[in-house]
Amino acid sequence: MRLLPLLALLATAPAFAQSGATTALHCGQLFDSRSGEVLGAHTVLVRDGRIAAVSPGHGATPGATTIDLSSHTCTPGWTDLHVHLGSQSSPDSYSEGFRLDDVDYAYRSVGYAEKTLLAGFTSVRDLGGEVAPHLRDAINNGLVIGPRIWAAGKSIATTGGHADPTNGYNSTLSHLIGPPGPTEGVINSVEDARQAVRQRYKEGSDVIKITATGGVLSYAKSGDAPQFTVEEIRSVVDTARDYGYKVAAHAHGEEGMRRAVEAGVTSIEHGTYMSDELMALMKKKGTWYVPTIHAGRFVAEKAKIDGYFPDVVRPKAARIGALIQDTAARAYDAGVKMAFGTDMGVGPHGDNAREFLYLVEAGIPAATALQMATIRAAEVLGVDDQGVIATGQRADIVAVPGNPVEDIEAVLDVAFVMKDGVIHKQPGDAAPADAQAGTRQ
Ligand SMILES: [Zn+2]
Repeated sequence: MRLLPLLALLATAPAFAQSGATTALHCGQLFDSRSGEVLGAHTVLVRDGRIAAVSPGHGATPGATTIDLSSHTCTPGWTDLHVHLGSQSSPDSYSEGFRLDDVDYAYRSVGYAEKTLLAGFTSVRDLGGEVAPHLRDAINNGLVIGPRIWAAGKSIATTGGHADPTNGYNSTLSHLIGPPGPTEGVINSVEDARQAVRQRYKEGSDVIKITATGGVLSYAKSGDAPQFTVEEIRSVVDTARDYGYKVAAHAHGEEGMRRAVEAGVTSIEHGTYMSDELMALMKKKGTWYVPTIHAGRFVAEKAKIDGYFPDVVRPKAARIGALIQDTAARAYDAGVKMAFGTDMGVGPHGDNAREFLYLVEAGIPAATALQMATIRAAEVLGVDDQGVIATGQRADIVAVPGNPVEDIEAVLDVAFVMKDGVIHKQPGDAAPADAQAGTRQ
């Protein structure tokens, strides 16, 4: 078993997990993410943050604390490959940038992280935001509750591009602050690109995010124009490789997407105007596609409300947002490798599982959608100790009532959440108050 050597290194469960104690989960059914099949009753034994054994039926497990999940299906904990835990969009987002401090965003992120975990997402990739690396450390140190985080830190953009932090500033402010550079994640050359990646390394990022084209919510006109040269993206990808980083590329427009794929990024995020030719190229290069339908639907819906978005954003939200679900359907039919992501922080944190419904609505089988958030997401992250319920794996387990492959809406009703062997939610728990999580007992 190739995972076993990892045990000694990685079995450091959070401080509040009881060392040596065994928990037996009596799962009514078990989702096998490798085959995509829902199996019958199984017992999952958990010890020291890892899965110690998986066996059919519900036999006696002397000395273990038993959790009755016999009317539920257990699945590996889910991974959302595209979130922004440091923020959540609203009509106030644009002005808040001038009023709030980083620490205000950090406090908000504590509640977002807890909601995300309790919605069944035991891992996330945070693709942009300076809060996430710090939130990751706070979670890993047991200070706050949340998913395991792979943090990009500041996204890398070009001047005026999606994620230039000074977009929309008036000229007085712009001149006062001066043009942002690689330190702030804004590049305009191959050399800048190298420096920006190294800066992210210095700041403790786990993954690199670039904005290969314009974006919907940035205060700028174009949502789809290419914003990097292919040489700049190559420089990002090559430098990232030196540090063991994978590169996620935000992209809506075809040309920017093509450059990112040719330069060798790991994943295309959103991918709105992906042509058949580009899908073929992605298959050839092994590029992943993370569609984020939730964000597309959310912004398209909000674009109908007068004043919700600034005038420069509204037409982009209406046009681009409405297309993503269709692109996801076409990419699935074309056989592009796909994994699960929502871009949450555009939509409300904690609603991540709704993406499963949107994927199924796009014609993707429910079992495949669940694989996208488990075994395939682990592949995108480049880890081999999560995403499957098997001996030696991290004890990240979620349970939902009934059978989610037959009725995908079950994913909205998560009854049990275990991360690294620690139970964060179980049947019978009171429904969380819809308050800021910091006030919850
Ligand atoms: Zn995003």
